[in-house]
Amino acid sequence: MNYNKKSIEDIEVAGKRVLCRCDFNVPTKDGKITSDKRIVAAMPTIEYLVSKGAKVILCSHMGKPKGEWKPELSLKVVAQRISELLGKEVVMAADVAGEDAQAKAAALQNGDVMLLENTRYIKGETKNDPELSKALASMADIFVNDAFGTAHRAHSSTAGVADYLPAVSGYLVQKEVSIMGKALANPERPFVAILGGAKVSDKLNVINNLLEKVDTLIIGGGMAYTFLAAQGYSVGKSLVDNEKLDYCKEMMAKAQAKGVNLLLPVDTAVAGSFPNPIDAEIPVSYVDCTNIPDDQMGLDIGPKACEAFAAAAKSAKTVVWNGPMGVFENPTLAKGTVAVAQALADSDAVTIVGGGDSAAACEQLGFADKITHISTGGGASLEFLEGLELPGIACLQDK
Ligand code: ADP
Ligand code: MG
Repeated sequence: MNYNKKSIEDIEVAGKRVLCRCDFNVPTKDGKITSDKRIVAAMPTIEYLVSKGAKVILCSHMGKPKGEWKPELSLKVVAQRISELLGKEVVMAADVAGEDAQAKAAALQNGDVMLLENTRYIKGETKNDPELSKALASMADIFVNDAFGTAHRAHSSTAGVADYLPAVSGYLVQKEVSIMGKALANPERPFVAILGGAKVSDKLNVINNLLEKVDTLIIGGGMAYTFLAAQGYSVGKSLVDNEKLDYCKEMMAKAQAKGVNLLLPVDTAVAGSFPNPIDAEIPVSYVDCTNIPDDQMGLDIGPKACEAFAAAAKSAKTVVWNGPMGVFENPTLAKGTVAVAQALADSDAVTIVGGGDSAAACEQLGFADKITHISTGGGASLEFLEGLELPGIACLQDK
């Protein structure tokens, strides 16, 4: 996949109708937005387009209306918030690409902004229906994709519309693609990847792809125990993906063949059972991974592993991290995740965090502003790390 894509700064937008796909999938409660983070994040692109005198037509999905016109998933509240942030009226369309949207788009003056209704009100959106793509495209001269979180989906408003319009990235997508793309295509070395999370099976292709690129691959979290089991250790009641033991052996052999340093935890926090509720106080002990008792389960990496992983991260020039090191939702079992987050925060390397829970952990633990880049797209960033072509990015013009 080519990561060198044109952005809004590489195309003339003055006086043009610009259809801009944003990620306004914001949480709401009782008709009020509970976090406007995603709207705030979209403002630089919107402000740039307005300042250049484009006629701006914004669109997004919100929630999963599945083709039904659910009033609680209307983007009206979003239009209001953008309008407040922009200090300027945002015209709200009554439909997605129907008569009202078409008429309002046609009436826009340079620098005006309008917002279409929830794209997923139309069934064709998630089917990438060419009729919807054409109707969306007919309102505009240029397509801008600034929604990274849906870039792994081939939907009408994320990719299909680019069949009919010149397409470029907005600032958010540009940042994701340039930072993660560079790390994968041309990283400063040593390049260290840290993987964790619950299951090996969730990250098969991530492990496989990163082994092609990194100097060191660190595996922690729940998936580490399947690797340990594949090495012949008994791991007690820890999470083990029995069907993936051969896969883990294959990956360990691949690491060796490629000269990749594969690091597994040497010690682990164990308890008799999974905490219930997840944040309940829980007595833990620390044991070496060669010595996990049969009636115990590993729920976090231990202090020696923390030290080893942090040291590897600190010696790197590029670090990619996906997946918590333990059950970080529980303060007692968050130590490994905190140690890795701390190591990334302290490092001078380019540090990149992808994955919904890892990003949330960085934010919760207060390390977010010390990380070079926290990806805004959970699923999209995983597919990126898998080396897959993301339809919402592949459809943009190459530089
Ligand atoms: P991400 O969203 O960052 O890609 P995942 O969704 O793959 O991460 O994994 C996050 C989940 O993994 C968390 O809910 C965490 O509790 C769980 N987890 C981490 N370590 C373990 C473990 N040792 N046993 C069971 N679950 C674990
Ligand atoms: Mg997750």
